[in-house]
Amino acid sequence: MLLKILQVGDPVLRQVARPLSPQEILSDRIQQLVELMRATMHDAEGVGLAAPQVGEPVQLAVIEDRADFSGLTPEILAERDRRPVPFHVIINPTFAVEGEEGAAFFESCLSVSGFLGLVRRALRVRVEAINEKAESVAIEARGWYARILQHEIDHLNGTLYLDQMEVRTFSTSANYARFWRGKPVEEVRRLLRLDELAPAHKNATP
Ligand code: ZN
Repeated sequence: MLLKILQVGDPVLRQVARPLSPQEILSDRIQQLVELMRATMHDAEGVGLAAPQVGEPVQLAVIEDRADFSGLTPEILAERDRRPVPFHVIINPTFAVEGEEGAAFFESCLSVSGFLGLVRRALRVRVEAINEKAESVAIEARGWYARILQHEIDHLNGTLYLDQMEVRTFSTSANYARFWRGKPVEEVRRLLRLDELAPAHKNATP
């Protein structure tokens, strides 16, 4: 059985999700939710899925990056600092950005199906959370994994990548494949005149 993934415009995607108690985490209901979310994420070929995306406004997300989807070349995987991440669950997460470095890449979301946009994210984060066994976990992540964590934790706070993307880069998947995939970010910025058109204060954004 698979869960239905809600699409942008559904108010659940804009709520702040509620935390789960250890008893709830260990309940059959949440254990089953984790398994269903895992199956749903695999079916959708996603690298993360947050509970609000399946209509459950609770602070829980599943993550797994096999880093072998959609014919990504070794060069693209290297540029994005993308490596396989085993399946795991984060519950009630908090995160802190580590260091000053950021990177901008095109990003998509299973709840904004068929589109991508360029999003700047921190390159390194530290996440503290609880896992599906109600144990505390601390995660130090960098590169694409750090991006996935930021994206999923945003979902738990009612935020979508649309809120942070460079709006002029918004693209259908087909047009991304046709015009933008494989172009260095600097070239994308130049072709779309991002720096030229951005308000001065935006240029200072890390
Ligand atoms: Zn998403």
